[in-house]
Amino acid sequence: MSNDLTTSDVTPDVAPSVQRIEIAPGVLIPQIGLGVFQVPADEAQRVVEDGLAAGYRHIDTAAAYVNEEGVGAAVRASGLPREEVFITSKLRNGDQGHDSTRRAYAETCKRLGVDRLDLYLIHWPYPSKGLFEQSWQALQELEAEGAVRAVGVSNFLPEHLDAIARHGGRPPAVNQIELHPTFQQPEVAAASRALGSVVEAYSPLGQGADLTAGAVVDAATAHGASAAQVILAWHLARGHVVIPKSAKPERIAENLAAADLRLSAAEIDSITGLDSDERIGGDPATFALSQMR
Ligand code: NDP
Repeated sequence: MSNDLTTSDVTPDVAPSVQRIEIAPGVLIPQIGLGVFQVPADEAQRVVEDGLAAGYRHIDTAAAYVNEEGVGAAVRASGLPREEVFITSKLRNGDQGHDSTRRAYAETCKRLGVDRLDLYLIHWPYPSKGLFEQSWQALQELEAEGAVRAVGVSNFLPEHLDAIARHGGRPPAVNQIELHPTFQQPEVAAASRALGSVVEAYSPLGQGADLTAGAVVDAATAHGASAAQVILAWHLARGHVVIPKSAKPERIAENLAAADLRLSAAEIDSITGLDSDERIGGDPATFALSQMR
């Protein structure tokens, strides 16, 4: 794919084989989205424009990524109707608390240049701060007011899910967690599903580290596909929403094309067998970065 696509090259609808999953009443999320963690602010517009041109209709950003302006600019530059592009952002740790959550949500919408988000997540439970239940309350209010289409959480362990479930109301639409072949967190995924939350896999490629695993390479060879496509097809077969990040136009397109790859049951089982319980990211039980505040 060339890097100089113009607005007229943007396809009018999501890549046809990408499924949409209902995460809240009437709210459908495309199962493959483009993640923009570690995409610098001055590259975000170009990267997201490449994604939209390739057919992505779901972008995953966060206040802490400091690139929301570029994401919003790309959506506008694409010429796509706002409702065609599913946008997720996340509450920065330092903004947790009831009133500060509401303020942070308004600021995120402003930076993105949108009236409301499709999905807003508490980025981390940050349990040492003791504010995630208040933050959840604020998210539920925003949803009830129609200020956001759906609300959810990220990095929530079963004890954090239990704590917010005690408040009643709708369950988190999603729990976005680190999940890739070598780190699958089956207990967290099961607890999320039991509550009614869709599992969204972040770092779905293990930030590239899982691409050389034997079971992945074998399936890639068998299908004439790339290792990244095999891993993403494994996620899709297991019902995860995935948000692979790439800043390279050819990889952005390659990752989306994983929607057309079907693995055999044996291949899926072999990849599931790679779990070694080694996380890449922070441990949600202790992760306490205020994320630049
Ligand atoms: P990923 O598993 O998506 O891996 C990204 C890495 O893989 C990059 O180095 C990228 O390099 C490389 N890559 C991407 N596609 C390919 C390919 N086809 N072939 C070879 N290499 C490839 O890791 P991330 O941690 O970025 O996770 C994805 C998204 O998940 C984030 O962008 C963010 O939206 C979200 N996330 C959420 C977190 C949370 O706390 N809620 C935490 C971490 C991530 P290159 O760019 O050079 O192509």
